[in-house]
Order: sequence, then C-alpha cells, then structure tokens
Amino acid sequence: MMFSVTRMKWRALIPVLAGCVLSAVAAPAPQVEFSLQKVAFQIGETKIHAQMRQFGTNTLTMVNVHDDEQASVEAGVVVLEKTGGRLIEFTHTGKRRIVFALNGREYNFDPNRIFSKAGVRLTLRGTGEVPAEAHAAVDTFAEQFISYFKLDQQSAFITLHNNGDGGLSIHTYEPGGAWAADTDELHVSKTADPDDFYFVTDKRIYEELKKRDFNVILQDNSIKRDDGSLSVFAGRHGIAYINVEAEPEHLEEQIRMTEIAVQIIR
Ligand SMILES: [Zn+2]
Repeated sequence: MMFSVTRMKWRALIPVLAGCVLSAVAAPAPQVEFSLQKVAFQIGETKIHAQMRQFGTNTLTMVNVHDDEQASVEAGVVVLEKTGGRLIEFTHTGKRRIVFALNGREYNFDPNRIFSKAGVRLTLRGTGEVPAEAHAAVDTFAEQFISYFKLDQQSAFITLHNNGDGGLSIHTYEPGGAWAADTDELHVSKTADPDDFYFVTDKRIYEELKKRDFNVILQDNSIKRDDGSLSVFAGRHGIAYINVEAEPEHLEEQIRMTEIAVQIIR
C-alpha cells in the first residue's frame, strides 16, 4: 500500500518537473506592442471621444483632428506600425465639425480652430447668437485635450490631414493666395501635386523638406492670422510641428511623406 502511494506521488510530479525544465529556458519579458485608449471629454451635455493608439514604446506623437480625413490616419498607422509612436484622433460622427448641446441648444465647431480663444470665437456656430458660456465650454474642451495628451510638453509632433482636389493647396499660401498671411517662407515643388504639401513651424525642418523638393510652407510664427489651429498653438509654444497634408486618393504619397516627416522630426 505505502509503495503504490509513493509511486503515484512520483507520477503526479512528472508533469510538474517537466514544467520546471520548460520555464528554465531564458525568454525576454512580455512586451505590450499595441494599446488603445478611448478618452471621453464632456462639452455641455455631450460626450466627445478622443482615441489614442500606442504602437510600441516610441514617444513620437501624431494627431488627427478631422474625423472625415481617414486616409491620412491610414497613412499614419502604416508608418507607426514600423516606427512606433502614438496616434491621437477625435472620433465622433465621421464628419469634420464637432456638434454638442449646451442648455438644450446645439452648437458646432471645427476642431482645428479651437486652440486659441480667438479661434474659438471665429469657429463656434449655433442658431442665433452664441453665448459666452458656449465659448467657455469649448475653451475648456481644448485646454483639457491639450493637457490630457500633454501636447504642450512635446518638443515636436506630426498632424495628419487630407484635402479635396482643387481645395486647399500649396498655392493657397503663395503671395496673393487666401492664406498668404500665414507664410514666412514657401517652396513650390516642380514635380509634386499642389494638393500634397507640408506645413511646418520649424526652419530646420522646412529646409530639410525643401532640399528634397517637396511642397512646403514655413509658418510665420508671429501669427498674423490667428485661426486657432494646432499649428498656431505649436508656433506659439516653440513646438516643431509638421502637418502632412495630401489628397485622400494619394495614400502611397501620404505614407511616403509621413515616413519622411518621422525621419526629419527626430
Ligand atoms: Zn484637416
């Protein structure tokens, strides 16, 4: 009786011992390769979400503020899967403007026009006159977005945009163009499509892109035309900012442009 019990105990131990042998093989610690964070911001009675995808551990930051410019997001993801970094984007209706309710009334704004008080006052619309408390609600939303993702503490970041054919282009920023007041310097490529361009706040980055013959605009960081866009915010905070803007049909080109932005921004 005693003998057979001992035998059984040894049999029971065999898989445990085998397990010990397997776990003794050296292996690196598990790594988080991807994580997704969904953050809710409250504006009046409405919740607006921002989503952050983190690839690997790289601290590189990309931002997409227009929910209807998903080709640029696709380009960003292709690059981040290789380089690592985070992509922050507003996710709401799939449209450009964010809609919210305050005291039962509806308002809407362009999320790339809220990063200064002057910008908020220009972009916010509603039925009838927009009250001060609606402006204040959007001011607070913008401040919370910046501070939650620590955008004011970045030395550099990339933004991702798309534009329609014949809409915004490098020509918009040329002398006589609608947004010429934003331009410090500008380089028009002999080969690139005018709709595919970079808009930057940093002279070194401007020179790097000009050398490669891309369409590129260097923002006048004295900000003559404060439209409350993220580039205005970056210019005022001394942040090296690169907007990679392309036609949605030019995905391959936008991937290439985003890759080069990542190489240059470091
Ligand atoms: Zn955009």
